[in-house]
Amino acid sequence: MIQELQLRILPEEAASEQSLKQVVARETGTSVPHIHAVRVLKRSIDARQRTIFVNVKLRAFIDEVPDEPEFRSVEYKDVSAGKPVVVVGAGPGGLFAALRLIELGLRPVVIERGKNVRERKKDIALISREHKVDEESNYSFGEGGAGAYSDGKLYTRSKKRGSVDKILNVFCQFGASTSILADAHPHIGTDKLPRVIENIREQIIRCGGEVRFETRMDALVIRGEEVIGVETNTGESFLGPVILATGHSARDVYRYLHDRQIPIEAKGIAVGVRLEHPQMLIDQIQYHRKEGRGNYLPAAEYSFVAQSGGRGVYSFCMCPGGFVVPAASGPRQVVVNGMSPSNRGSRWSNSGMVVEVRPEDYISLMNNEELIMNNGERVESDSPLALMAFQERLEELCWLNGGMKQTAPAQRMVDFVNKKNSFDLPESSYTPGLLASPLHFWMPEFVTGRLREGFRHFGKVSKGFLTNDAVMIGVETRTSSPVRILRDKESYQHITLKGLFPCGEGAGYAGGIVSAAIDGERCAEGVAGYLSLV
Ligand code: FAD
Repeated sequence: MIQELQLRILPEEAASEQSLKQVVARETGTSVPHIHAVRVLKRSIDARQRTIFVNVKLRAFIDEVPDEPEFRSVEYKDVSAGKPVVVVGAGPGGLFAALRLIELGLRPVVIERGKNVRERKKDIALISREHKVDEESNYSFGEGGAGAYSDGKLYTRSKKRGSVDKILNVFCQFGASTSILADAHPHIGTDKLPRVIENIREQIIRCGGEVRFETRMDALVIRGEEVIGVETNTGESFLGPVILATGHSARDVYRYLHDRQIPIEAKGIAVGVRLEHPQMLIDQIQYHRKEGRGNYLPAAEYSFVAQSGGRGVYSFCMCPGGFVVPAASGPRQVVVNGMSPSNRGSRWSNSGMVVEVRPEDYISLMNNEELIMNNGERVESDSPLALMAFQERLEELCWLNGGMKQTAPAQRMVDFVNKKNSFDLPESSYTPGLLASPLHFWMPEFVTGRLREGFRHFGKVSKGFLTNDAVMIGVETRTSSPVRILRDKESYQHITLKGLFPCGEGAGYAGGIVSAAIDGERCAEGVAGYLSLV
């Protein structure tokens, strides 16, 4: 017999398959040996009250062995003889575009400027150890894209449940734990993601696709009003329709498009800092108990949002039990982000604390100063690249204030709110090191004023959150793309160039791993439609 149950149980009862079997035995009046398997379908934690419960929907196999697979697999066929499609970028957008192209009988040729996911790890380590940022191999660039060394959070605000489920199932097919299908806030973890990414690459190659590393697209090949391929730094050209999934840190791509007068527009972003607390404190606050999370609960998460001066102030990409990482992708930059391993076991929790900025905020953000870039270029407020230039400027300011290395300028949270210097800093997970710095002084008032107000509000709704045990680390700027590469809603093609499919986060149409992956699939479908027409 297969029975589905909806349970509200204690964390220790939900801790393992064995403890769940005991609950099922109790609820169904059977004994544990009769329960062959328990499959969790949905799981979420309800920590609103003093007693914490886990809501679990499960399927119990009583006197029956499960014969259904734990996830839905896709069958990928040989496409060696299929029409080639160039996919630029091996982030989630590009990789899922490639997989979908294979499903549709087309042959993906993936070109990626960075290294494969294992080689890339070595360059990432050098950023912390030697303060060396390789411009082609870092937290943003390389196989797996920006999400490869991350928390691997897989939740999204996308309402397209069917598309989200498909992506999660594909992740399972390539080695992610099936718990991502059940958890309300699924995540893979930075220790597990690289293997999943390698498995995807191996599948693409097995099917007759190509994956080329250290191959950077430097130009599009354009014939009339149609993109027919790309030229790369290796001197090669790759021909076919182009899915451009280069992410939000490929500023050279935006500059290239702008210089060629290919329509793009400025897009709002959010900027601020990474805020790091001791995880124990967050556990105590979120689980309302002194002893923290105990043995059966996961590292606690939080999510805050407020309005200040007509702009949103909010927590972003929260990494419980994680690390703050140096996410610069070029020289003269300090940028931070967060990641965590699958067990979320570090002593710290961090999140981006950011303020929404819109293209029309540019003048206020710059405190009415003119922005001249390092190359002498003046950036007008109505330029499509205005917010990208602002990002660059803020990252450079951060680098200057951090001692011109990957050391990050930082300030205690209450000191920041009170506009006081911090004379010392708490211990932090950020391995390149922190330097005490008055963020309230050198970051734009447009941002700091709103962060102050937001922090006061978050401290009121969550007692203990506003504390000098928390440290703000500058700066978080890569929250989303500052540019939109304009495309048609139906065909996913660029509005003026046929055969060009701007894709994923860098195109300004997605944010986050799952959403970029869904967008990758859509663009692949757009290409299939286009190729059946041409
Ligand atoms: P990207 O992942 O940015 O991939 C773009 C790829 O294109 C890169 O590999 C790049 O090297 C390549 N490329 C760029 N230019 C060229 C060129 N000219 N030629 C060839 N290749 C090129 N999101 C989540 O949902 N959950 C998380 O937990 C999470 N944590 C994150 C942690 C960190 C440290 C970072 C940096 C990001 C995190 N994100 C997270 C965001 C997430 O990674 C991105 O939203 C997602 O990766 C976007 O996918 P994409 O494929 O559109 O672009």
